[in-house]
Amino acid sequence: MYENIVEKINSILPQTQCGQCNYSGCKPYAIAITKGKADINQCPPGGEEGIQNIAKLLGVDFKPLNEKHGITKPKSVALIDEYACIGCTLCILACPVDAILGATKKMHTIIEDECTGCELCLSPCPVDCIEILPVKEDNNEISTQNKSNLARSRYEFRLDRIKREKKESNATRKLLTSTSEKSKLINEKRKSISEALARIKKNES
Ligand code: SF4
Ligand code: SF4
Ligand code: SF4
Repeated sequence: MYENIVEKINSILPQTQCGQCNYSGCKPYAIAITKGKADINQCPPGGEEGIQNIAKLLGVDFKPLNEKHGITKPKSVALIDEYACIGCTLCILACPVDAILGATKKMHTIIEDECTGCELCLSPCPVDCIEILPVKEDNNEISTQNKSNLARSRYEFRLDRIKREKKESNATRKLLTSTSEKSKLINEKRKSISEALARIKKNES
């Protein structure tokens, strides 16, 4: 019964995995709602429609989005300026749905259909070459529910892949599952890349 409610709430949530609700992803937020530890109005990407659906499911009153968690924005995707990209791979590490293609020292690109527009790749990029742009209307053919389902499968596939690779290679420093470990590694790498870029700029001037 408990698992069933968690799954039903999770299936309403947009699977952006952005953390704006103050939880590490959509499922942890669904669990917190089920346990009565979080309110139903903490998910900006799900917006009023999502709150209505959760309220209906749980038989509770609708309440407007708590804007302390952010505001609902138009559907967007990330775009990388491939000429400015230095191939540092930090964005790949940050992306919860594996929507970025690239390898070390190679330019990176976004798989548009798989990007949820969560913005988590923006701050790790040391050269600010990622932009978030609204989705063009003719690219918005996939329904919101299908897009959520796709994002959820990508996220769950990524978690499985990380677990599998961790087991196979024991490369624990690179394949971190917890959000705090991942942020720590991204911050360390970003700092060293920014320092290297500053040194290069200084030498050029
Ligand atoms: S999409 Fe909503 S529920 Fe999922 S992590 Fe973001 S704010 Fe939380
Ligand atoms: S590419 Fe960036 S904006 Fe798109 S899903 Fe990945 S982290 Fe989020
Ligand atoms: S974080 Fe920025 S510079 Fe590094 S690979 Fe991604 S887009 Fe390129």
